[in-house]
Amino acid sequence: MSDWPGRGEEFDLVRLPGNPRMCETVKEFLNRQRKFVSQTKWPPGTKFECKGCADCCTWYFIVMSVDEELVKQLYARAKYPSGFWEKSSQEKIRVGMPGFSFMGVIPTDQDEYLRVTGKTWGYWVLNLKGNVVLYNPTPCIQLTEDKQCAIYEGRPRVCRVYSCRRWPVIA
Ligand code: SF4
Ligand code: SF4
Repeated sequence: MSDWPGRGEEFDLVRLPGNPRMCETVKEFLNRQRKFVSQTKWPPGTKFECKGCADCCTWYFIVMSVDEELVKQLYARAKYPSGFWEKSSQEKIRVGMPGFSFMGVIPTDQDEYLRVTGKTWGYWVLNLKGNVVLYNPTPCIQLTEDKQCAIYEGRPRVCRVYSCRRWPVIA
Protein backbone atom coordinates (compact mmCIF):
# COMPACT_ATOMS: atom_id res chain seq x y z
CA MET A 1 0.00 0.00 0.00
CA SER A 2 2.98 2.29 0.45
CA ASP A 3 3.14 3.18 -3.23
CA TRP A 4 -0.07 5.17 -3.23
CA PRO A 5 0.31 8.91 -2.88
CA GLY A 6 -0.97 10.68 0.17
CA ARG A 7 -0.73 7.76 2.54
CA GLY A 8 -1.20 9.04 6.06
CA GLU A 9 -1.87 12.55 4.81
CA GLU A 10 -4.96 14.45 3.84
CA PHE A 11 -5.47 14.95 0.13
CA ASP A 12 -5.61 18.46 -1.20
CA LEU A 13 -9.17 18.30 -2.46
CA VAL A 14 -8.89 21.63 -4.24
CA ARG A 15 -6.21 20.26 -6.54
CA LEU A 16 -8.00 17.05 -7.37
CA PRO A 17 -9.77 17.16 -10.70
CA GLY A 18 -13.53 17.08 -11.02
CA ASN A 19 -15.61 16.06 -13.98
CA PRO A 20 -19.40 15.93 -14.07
CA ARG A 21 -19.27 12.95 -16.43
CA MET A 22 -17.65 10.86 -13.71
CA CYS A 23 -19.26 9.81 -10.50
CA GLU A 24 -16.07 9.18 -8.56
CA THR A 25 -13.29 11.53 -7.47
CA VAL A 26 -9.61 10.63 -7.51
CA LYS A 27 -9.73 10.48 -3.71
CA GLU A 28 -12.55 7.96 -3.85
CA PHE A 29 -10.62 6.03 -6.46
CA LEU A 30 -7.50 5.90 -4.28
CA ASN A 31 -9.54 4.77 -1.28
CA ARG A 32 -11.07 2.07 -3.40
CA GLN A 33 -7.63 0.97 -4.60
CA ARG A 34 -6.33 0.79 -1.03
CA LYS A 35 -9.25 -1.41 -0.11
CA PHE A 36 -8.64 -3.55 -3.19
CA VAL A 37 -4.92 -3.93 -2.41
CA SER A 38 -5.73 -4.90 1.17
CA GLN A 39 -7.94 -7.66 -0.22
CA THR A 40 -5.13 -9.19 -2.24
CA LYS A 41 -2.77 -10.25 0.56
CA TRP A 42 -3.08 -14.00 0.30
CA PRO A 43 -0.34 -16.64 0.70
CA PRO A 44 1.44 -17.98 -2.43
CA GLY A 45 -0.42 -20.90 -3.96
CA THR A 46 -3.87 -19.64 -2.93
CA LYS A 47 -6.52 -20.51 -5.52
CA PHE A 48 -9.32 -18.12 -6.40
CA GLU A 49 -12.77 -18.40 -7.87
CA CYS A 50 -14.89 -15.98 -9.90
CA LYS A 51 -18.21 -15.02 -8.33
CA GLY A 52 -19.46 -13.11 -11.36
CA CYS A 53 -19.68 -9.70 -9.70
CA ALA A 54 -18.53 -8.06 -13.00
CA ASP A 55 -16.39 -5.48 -11.18
CA CYS A 56 -13.48 -6.33 -13.49
CA CYS A 57 -15.69 -5.33 -16.44
CA THR A 58 -16.95 -2.20 -14.71
CA TRP A 59 -13.80 -0.39 -13.57
CA TYR A 60 -10.19 -0.95 -14.40
CA PHE A 61 -6.68 0.45 -14.11
CA ILE A 62 -3.47 0.34 -16.14
CA VAL A 63 0.00 1.10 -14.80
CA MET A 64 2.12 3.08 -17.25
CA SER A 65 5.88 3.70 -16.89
CA VAL A 66 7.14 7.25 -17.32
CA ASP A 67 10.73 8.52 -17.30
CA GLU A 68 12.35 10.18 -14.30
CA GLU A 69 12.48 13.64 -15.84
CA LEU A 70 8.72 13.60 -16.40
CA VAL A 71 8.13 12.42 -12.85
CA LYS A 72 10.12 15.43 -11.61
CA GLN A 73 8.08 17.76 -13.78
CA LEU A 74 4.83 16.31 -12.49
CA TYR A 75 5.87 16.67 -8.86
CA ALA A 76 6.98 20.23 -9.57
CA ARG A 77 3.38 20.99 -10.54
CA ALA A 78 1.50 19.29 -7.75
CA LYS A 79 2.04 17.54 -4.46
CA TYR A 80 -0.17 14.68 -5.62
CA PRO A 81 0.02 14.74 -9.43
CA SER A 82 -3.26 13.64 -10.92
CA GLY A 83 -5.62 14.57 -13.72
CA PHE A 84 -7.42 13.08 -16.68
CA TRP A 85 -6.39 10.84 -19.53
CA GLU A 86 -8.02 10.05 -22.82
CA LYS A 87 -7.21 7.62 -25.58
CA SER A 88 -5.61 9.55 -28.37
CA SER A 89 -4.66 7.12 -31.11
CA GLN A 90 -3.58 3.53 -31.44
CA GLU A 91 -1.50 2.57 -28.41
CA LYS A 92 -1.29 6.18 -27.28
CA ILE A 93 -2.94 8.05 -24.47
CA ARG A 94 -2.98 11.75 -23.72
CA VAL A 95 -2.42 12.37 -20.03
CA GLY A 96 -3.14 15.84 -18.71
CA MET A 97 -3.31 18.12 -15.72
CA PRO A 98 -3.99 21.86 -15.67
CA GLY A 99 -1.43 23.57 -17.90
CA PHE A 100 0.46 20.41 -18.80
CA SER A 101 0.00 17.27 -20.84
CA PHE A 102 2.05 14.44 -22.30
CA MET A 103 1.51 11.38 -24.44
CA GLY A 104 1.91 7.88 -23.09
CA VAL A 105 2.39 4.57 -24.86
CA ILE A 106 0.40 1.63 -23.55
CA PRO A 107 1.01 -2.07 -24.21
CA THR A 108 -0.71 -3.57 -27.25
CA ASP A 109 -3.04 -5.83 -25.28
CA GLN A 110 -4.14 -2.94 -23.07
CA ASP A 111 -4.74 -0.87 -26.18
CA GLU A 112 -6.92 -3.66 -27.53
CA TYR A 113 -8.80 -3.76 -24.26
CA LEU A 114 -9.51 -0.02 -24.34
CA ARG A 115 -10.60 -0.22 -27.97
CA VAL A 116 -12.89 -3.21 -27.55
CA THR A 117 -14.39 -2.15 -24.25
CA GLY A 118 -14.85 1.51 -25.19
CA LYS A 119 -13.03 2.64 -22.05
CA THR A 120 -11.38 5.67 -23.57
CA TRP A 121 -11.04 8.16 -20.72
CA GLY A 122 -10.56 8.33 -16.97
CA TYR A 123 -8.42 9.63 -14.12
CA TRP A 124 -4.71 9.22 -13.57
CA VAL A 125 -2.49 9.55 -10.53
CA LEU A 126 1.27 9.30 -10.10
CA ASN A 127 2.22 6.70 -7.52
CA LEU A 128 5.32 6.80 -5.36
CA LYS A 129 7.05 4.26 -7.59
CA GLY A 130 7.02 6.86 -10.34
CA ASN A 131 4.39 5.12 -12.45
CA VAL A 132 1.27 6.73 -13.80
CA VAL A 133 -1.82 4.76 -12.80
CA LEU A 134 -4.55 5.22 -15.37
CA TYR A 135 -7.90 4.52 -13.81
CA ASN A 136 -11.04 3.99 -15.81
CA PRO A 137 -14.30 4.21 -13.88
CA THR A 138 -16.58 3.37 -16.81
CA PRO A 139 -18.34 0.04 -17.42
CA CYS A 140 -17.38 -1.88 -20.53
CA ILE A 141 -19.75 -1.30 -23.45
CA GLN A 142 -19.86 -5.08 -23.93
CA LEU A 143 -21.25 -5.72 -20.45
CA THR A 144 -24.94 -6.64 -20.55
CA GLU A 145 -27.50 -5.68 -17.89
CA ASP A 146 -27.33 -9.15 -16.40
CA LYS A 147 -23.53 -8.81 -16.04
CA GLN A 148 -22.59 -11.04 -18.96
CA CYS A 149 -19.96 -10.36 -21.61
CA ALA A 150 -21.70 -9.86 -24.96
CA ILE A 151 -18.55 -10.87 -26.86
CA TYR A 152 -17.30 -13.55 -24.48
CA GLU A 153 -15.85 -15.83 -27.20
CA GLY A 154 -14.07 -12.89 -28.83
CA ARG A 155 -13.14 -10.87 -25.73
CA PRO A 156 -9.71 -9.18 -25.64
CA ARG A 157 -6.66 -11.11 -24.46
CA VAL A 158 -6.36 -8.96 -21.34
CA CYS A 159 -9.86 -10.11 -20.31
CA ARG A 160 -8.90 -13.75 -20.94
CA VAL A 161 -5.74 -13.65 -18.84
CA TYR A 162 -7.08 -11.46 -16.03
CA SER A 163 -6.20 -13.05 -12.72
CA CYS A 164 -8.74 -12.04 -10.09
CA ARG A 165 -7.58 -12.39 -6.50
CA ARG A 166 -10.74 -11.31 -4.80
CA TRP A 167 -12.35 -14.55 -3.70
CA PRO A 168 -9.92 -17.17 -2.34
CA VAL A 169 -10.93 -20.80 -2.24
CA ILE A 170 -10.39 -21.79 1.40
CA ALA A 171 -10.02 -25.57 1.76
S1 SF4 B 1 -13.07 -12.13 -12.04
FE1 SF4 B 1 -13.26 -11.20 -9.99
S2 SF4 B 1 -13.94 -9.08 -10.30
FE2 SF4 B 1 -14.31 -10.25 -12.20
S3 SF4 B 1 -16.43 -11.02 -12.07
FE3 SF4 B 1 -15.11 -12.61 -11.23
S4 SF4 B 1 -15.03 -12.20 -9.01
FE4 SF4 B 1 -15.78 -10.34 -9.99
S1 SF4 C 1 -14.99 -7.38 -23.14
FE1 SF4 C 1 -16.26 -8.74 -21.93
S2 SF4 C 1 -14.84 -9.66 -20.43
FE2 SF4 C 1 -13.83 -7.84 -21.28
S3 SF4 C 1 -14.34 -6.15 -19.87
FE3 SF4 C 1 -15.89 -6.17 -21.49
S4 SF4 C 1 -17.59 -7.39 -20.69
FE4 SF4 C 1 -15.77 -7.83 -19.46
